[in-house]
Amino acid sequence: MPYVKSLTCKECGTEYPIEPRTVCDHDFAPVEVTYDYAAMKGKMTRASIEAGPRSLWRYRDLLPINSQPRVGLNSGYTPLIKADNLAKEIGVKELYIKDDSTNYPTFSYKDRVVSVALTKALEFGYDTVGCASTGNLAHSVAAHAAKAGLRAFVMIPHNLEEGKVVGSSVFGPRVVRIDGNYDDVNRLCSQIADKYKWAIVNVNLRPFYTEGAKTHGFEIAEQMGWKLPKHTVVPVAGGTILPKIYKAYREFIELGLVEDNQPKMYAAQAAGCNPVVKAIQEGNELFHPQKPNTIAKSIAIGNPADGYYVIKIIQKSQGWGESATDPEIVEAIKLLARTEGIFTEPAGGTTLACAAKLIRSGRIPRDEPICVCITGNGLKSIEVMQGQFASLPVIPAKIAEFVKLVEATEEHTPNATKATV
Ligand SMILES: *Cc1c(COP(=O)(O)O)cnc(C)c1O
Ligand SMILES: [Zn+2]
Repeated sequence: MPYVKSLTCKECGTEYPIEPRTVCDHDFAPVEVTYDYAAMKGKMTRASIEAGPRSLWRYRDLLPINSQPRVGLNSGYTPLIKADNLAKEIGVKELYIKDDSTNYPTFSYKDRVVSVALTKALEFGYDTVGCASTGNLAHSVAAHAAKAGLRAFVMIPHNLEEGKVVGSSVFGPRVVRIDGNYDDVNRLCSQIADKYKWAIVNVNLRPFYTEGAKTHGFEIAEQMGWKLPKHTVVPVAGGTILPKIYKAYREFIELGLVEDNQPKMYAAQAAGCNPVVKAIQEGNELFHPQKPNTIAKSIAIGNPADGYYVIKIIQKSQGWGESATDPEIVEAIKLLARTEGIFTEPAGGTTLACAAKLIRSGRIPRDEPICVCITGNGLKSIEVMQGQFASLPVIPAKIAEFVKLVEATEEHTPNATKATV
C-alpha cells in the first residue's frame, strides 16, 4: 500500500490506522481512505495504467490493499458503449453507457466493491464474511467468497426476486432472509458485526468496500480516451457509487491524467424510494428516510448510509437529481434493450429513465457528452418484465406456417422486405 495514508474522518479529519472500522469515534461520521497523491504523481501514468491487467486491479495504486489482489482477478474493466442508437432516439449528440451488467462474475457493479473488500478481509485474517444486501451484493459476496474459500453469511430482505435469491444460494453461503426491508437488515448487520468477529463488507469493511466503486469512474475516464464526460447519471441506493465516481474523477484530475472539465453528477432514484432526489430537488442538505415501495428493489434503500454525501456532491458539482416511476422504469429497460441490445435490471431502467427526463427538462444539455451508468443485469429480475410482451403462438414446424405467421404480422415491421417464395 505504498500510497495509502490513513482512514480519515470525513467530518472532523481525525486519522485512524488502516483497520476494520466504519465510523469516527468522535462524531460517528464515516471514515474514508486517503492517499498521498504527491508521491504518486509521475509514477502513476496513463502508460502505467494501460500496461496493467484488464481488470479493476489496473488501478490498484489507488485502492487500499497491501498484498497482491486475492479475489476478483477478472472483475471490472467492463465495456463503455458509445450508444449512438439510443442517442438518436433521445435526441442527444454524444451518449455513453458504462455497462456493468456484464461485470464478472455476478453481473453487477457490486463485483468491484466486493473484490476490494474481500481482498482486505483476507489481509486482516478473517475467515468469515457477510453483508446486508438488496440482492446483488449478496450474489457477489457469495461468489467471491466461494472462490476465495471464505465462509459467507448473506442477509437479505424476505421479499427479493427469485433470481436474486437463487443467484446467491447457488454459491453455498448461509442465506438469511429477514422479515423487514433493507434498512432493517442493515441495522441487524451492525449488531452482527459487533457480536461476531466477521467481516461484514458494507459495515466494518465499508471504507475499503466503497473504494472499490471508484474503479467504475476510472474506467469511464480511461475508456473515453482519458477524458471525463461532462454529465454522469448514477443510480443511488446506499449512496456509495455516486460519490466514489466523483472521487475517481477528482483523483485522475489531481494526478494530471485527465483535464478538469468540471464534471457534473446526477442522482437517479425510483419514485417509490427517492429520499436523496427529494432532498436535492427541495434544496435541502439532509434527506428524510422513506419506506421503499418500488420494483427497483436493488436500489430500494430508504435510509442511505451515504445519502448525505450524495447530496453534497450533487450540489458541489452543480448537477441534479431525478426519479422515475415504475412504469417509466420498465419503458426505459425496453428502450435500452431495443436500441443498444443491453438488458438491464430496474436499477438500470431507473438510471436511463432519469437521464432522459433530465435531458427533456433541459437540466442536461443535448450537445455535451453524457455517461449513463448501468449497474446491473436484467436476467436476474425478469419478473418485472412479465406481461410486457404479447403471448407467442406456437406454430407447426412447416415453412408454410412460418410464411403465414410472418406475412400476417408484416405490417408491424415496416422495413421488412417482401418474402420471395
Ligand atoms: C447496489 C446497487 C446500486 C447502487 O448502490 P449504492 O449503494 O448507491 O452504491 C446501483 N445499482 C445496482 C444494480 C446495485 O445493485
Ligand atoms: Zn470525526
